[in-house]
Parts: sequence; structure tokens; C-alpha cells
Amino acid sequence: MSEYELVVRSRVAVTPEGERPAAVAVREGKIAAVHAYDAALDAGQDVDLGDLALLPGLVDTHVHVNEPGRTHWEGFASATRAAAAGGVTTIVDMPLNSLPPTVTAAALTAKQEAAAGQCYVDVGFWGGAIPGNLDDLRPLHERGVYGFKCFLSPSGVEEFPPLTPDEVRQALKVIAEFDGLMVVHAEDPSLLLEPAGPTYPEFLDSRPGASERRAVEQAIELSRQTGVRVHILHVSSADCLEPLAAARRGGVRVSAETCPHYLTLTAEQVPDGDTAFKCCPPIRSAENRDRLWAGLADGVLSCVVSDHSPSTADLKLPDFAAAWGGIASLQLGLPAIWTEAATRGHGLADVVRWMSANPAALAGIRGKGGLVPGADADLVAFDPAADLPVDAAALHHKNPVTPYHGRTLKGAVRTTWLRGVPVDVTAPPRGVFL
Ligand SMILES: [Zn+2]
Repeated sequence: MSEYELVVRSRVAVTPEGERPAAVAVREGKIAAVHAYDAALDAGQDVDLGDLALLPGLVDTHVHVNEPGRTHWEGFASATRAAAAGGVTTIVDMPLNSLPPTVTAAALTAKQEAAAGQCYVDVGFWGGAIPGNLDDLRPLHERGVYGFKCFLSPSGVEEFPPLTPDEVRQALKVIAEFDGLMVVHAEDPSLLLEPAGPTYPEFLDSRPGASERRAVEQAIELSRQTGVRVHILHVSSADCLEPLAAARRGGVRVSAETCPHYLTLTAEQVPDGDTAFKCCPPIRSAENRDRLWAGLADGVLSCVVSDHSPSTADLKLPDFAAAWGGIASLQLGLPAIWTEAATRGHGLADVVRWMSANPAALAGIRGKGGLVPGADADLVAFDPAADLPVDAAALHHKNPVTPYHGRTLKGAVRTTWLRGVPVDVTAPPRGVFL
């Protein structure tokens, strides 16, 4: 028997201390040690990536898998294949748009039964907070959900209604009993309009940044009043940054994420009628995008996660008022962000912090998010210099729709290891529930 089952060496290993040459040594599926790049080691398999970067597997805490119930939109097999191909080794599934939504312990059981045996990466779950399910929150917590999602505005599916601010407060009081986490879709419905027509500018005007900012301010106030940790999902409007920064300075337990599409795409470049670009809140101006990058750089936005929320292609009507709102990008988050980050002076260590370490810390997922001894050996070989032409039909997610179709991104995932074993999407899956 060798001392290690696997050693992966790279001149560009991205550790919590930054980029450095290193040899990551794996025993029983976990990182046993991080040695010098050229250390003499006794290993069953010794892989030298040379100048390819070695990253910890990404942790995507915002994925809508939709199975059971809307499995034709997305399912666990296809979503987790896409994740693995994109360097994502952990996903946390959102409580909607599956049927039933994950708002009771029985619904979590139904979801796990549907997912069993299909997952190519590790999978955790969020629960949902909707009107009338206060008594279900603790049982879901005890079953291991990482927290609870609520909407302040209509979610897009009728079985997952929004909460009023008073209902949020009641849910937070329950969640406070076990010091849990609430994750919030923050748009104030009183400031949302019906789109005046089918075009992108009309859709954008119907969901102003002021709606996001007002809802973020409400969520901050509810966190401040109850002491419960609150996380703002998918910040699109940079107008939210100032109240978020002020709240954090004031000691409120609030954090926030944004998504690759808000950081890489702009309203100005949405093609006429191409509703692959439709999501809520919407992709905004180039100037707004620049301010979101500043929010990431100064830490007000801590996580970059996909909000992968696909549907069948027929629901992506060429009408921004009527089309399904959701962007499919699970396989492309890393190259999309790297493409933009590199031009803005950020390094891979920043990308790993936003897309792996911080999401793992947000949800409290043990053993994920870093190349450190004791963590699961979830590893990614990433070629930061590769050109990646995107063909929607060649991606693993179920329906061939993505706003990145036809673009050439920078950076490509070469190999993804889950707990020390390369993921082979044609072999039986090895992912577990977290
Ligand atoms: Zn979402």
C-alpha cells in the first residue's frame, strides 16, 4: 500500500494562502497534506498538472434542479454532470421549482428519493419558508437543510408564494431558536411593474434597482431586529451595496451574493428577443456591472454563485414580458467569471474565494471550499489560458439554452475529482447528500 492513493501537483495550486507550487496528497478521499511541488511522495497515482491551475472544487449554493415535478426543465443527473464538467463539486439545491417544493420534511424526503443514485457531485439542500409552514422549519432544520429561502415578491411559481415582511419576521423568530440562516430573494413587489411591452428595455424598466434596494433594506432591518443571519440572494442592482455595507459596519449579520450573469453580461448587449438573458432581478447596465465588481473587490458581495434556473426551450418565448425568467449557466460560471476577472486585475485566488471558500462558509458546509488538510479531496484542474467556445447544445444541462451561447470564454476545466476520484459522467455517479 502506498502512503497516499493520489497526489496532484501543480505550479499554480490555489490555497487559502494564495497561488503557489504544491503537491496535494490524498488519502481515503480527503486531503491528507499539502506538500512542496517537487516533494518525493509515495502515491498510488501521481499526477503533475504542470502549469495548469489546481483549484478546490467550486461550491455553488444557488442551483434550481427542479426534480421531482419539473424534471423536464432540469434533473439531478443532468445538473450534476454539468456541475462536474464546470468544476463544481458541491451544489445546494433551491427549494423551488421542484414539485413538491422543499417546504416540509416529507417534501425533502421526496426530493432525496428522486435524486438518489443520480448525483455526480455532492448535493445539499435549502428548505423553503412560505406562508403557513412555520411548523415545518424546525423539522427541515433537523433534517439538515442549510437554511431557508423566502421571496418578498412573487416567485414565478404559484406553489411557492412570497412572504410579507411580517411573515418574514415570524419565520425569523422560529429560525432564531436554532440560530439558522434565511436566504432572501429581495425585490419589493410594490415597486415592480407590469412590463409595458415585449422588449428588453421594457422588461428592465419594470424591475427597477429601487425595488431591490428597498427589499434589501427591509431584510437588513428584519435581521437587525431578530438577530438572525440573513443572506441576500443574487444582488443585481449595485444600489444595494451601500445599505449592505452600512449594515455590516453596524454589526448586522447580513451577507450577499451575486451571479456570473450580472458580472459578465450587460443590458446594452442583450440581443432583441433573446430571452435566454431573462432573469429576475434583471441584468442591468454596464455601469452597474462595474459597481458590482467594486462590491466584490471590497467584500460587500462575498459569493458568486450561478442561480442556475433553467426551463424547457419553449418557455423562453421571444417576448421578455411572457418568457420564463431564469438563466442556465451551471457549467460555465468558472470560465465566465475568470474571463472577466482576469481583465479586471483579479487572480484565481479571488475567484476561488468567491466561488468556493465563501459559499461553503455561508452555508456552513464542512470539508468543502479549500485545499487544506482534512477537507474532501474535491479538486479541479483548470487551464486559465484556454479558449472555450460555448455551444449550448454541447453543455450537459438538460435544455440547450444559455445566454453564453456563441461566446468564447477564457479558461477550461480539464479534470474534476470528487473525493479523490476523477468524475466520469458516463460511469455510475458517486455524489452523496450533504
Ligand atoms: Zn434562484
